[in-house]
Amino acid sequence: MKTRQQIVAGNWKMNKNYGEGRELALEIVARLKLSDTKVVLCTPFIHLSLVQELINGVSNLYTGAQNCHQEDKGAYTGEISVEMLKSVGVSYVILGHSERREYFAESDELLAKKVDKVLAAGLLPIFCCGESLDIRDADTHIAHVEAQIKAGLFHLSAEDFAKVVIAYEPIWAIGTGRTASPEQAQDMHAAIRALLASKYGAEAADATSILYGGSVNGGNAAVLFAQPDVDGGLVGGASLKADEFITIVEATK
Ligand code: PEP
Repeated sequence: MKTRQQIVAGNWKMNKNYGEGRELALEIVARLKLSDTKVVLCTPFIHLSLVQELINGVSNLYTGAQNCHQEDKGAYTGEISVEMLKSVGVSYVILGHSERREYFAESDELLAKKVDKVLAAGLLPIFCCGESLDIRDADTHIAHVEAQIKAGLFHLSAEDFAKVVIAYEPIWAIGTGRTASPEQAQDMHAAIRALLASKYGAEAADATSILYGGSVNGGNAAVLFAQPDVDGGLVGGASLKADEFITIVEATK
């Protein structure tokens, strides 16, 4: 049993209509066994309020959003604020997912503002980082991820930083069926933890949950999660099937 908080977050992305989302959440709630692992359902916005009602009272089960806006409110057509998320009981917000960085041009600077907004509202960021295949092939992946973390998080006080969850997601492994090897994941997670220790001290670094994301499934989760610095996963495709998602949750130690 690991001492650090283990977390499995399911990122539904832009999948499941209202009825399908309800069905999936109900199945997860019915079948999830009580454990110390925190489980976060990061659904599309339309599901959050219903899923939050369905999970109310179930211990260690939370809802998460996949994004939020950096301003409080106003004329930002199509956007959602942290207060809106908070008002339906959301606990976590994924920030800096590579799809947001790439398709919606989210910069490090913007993400730092979103991190602040989420924390100020009393919500918890799941901050994503990760490199493209080009960067991995050039062997500059560790410096790249370090730069993302410094730019997005290192302005935080120690008190605020303690609320952050980090998700390392190599872009070449997201939705591709190609997973980082357990050694590749462990090497990066250890490097991230060392970076955190250099800024916030060993104790804070030791207490930070660092999740792995990128084609995690029922078959590979156990070996990835067994790595000493891997504290669970951020799961995309495999979070859309209750069976597989639960197998992944149960693979945490
Ligand atoms: C993700 O979207 O965060 C992700 C890791 O996706 P997948 O598990 O499908 O690779």
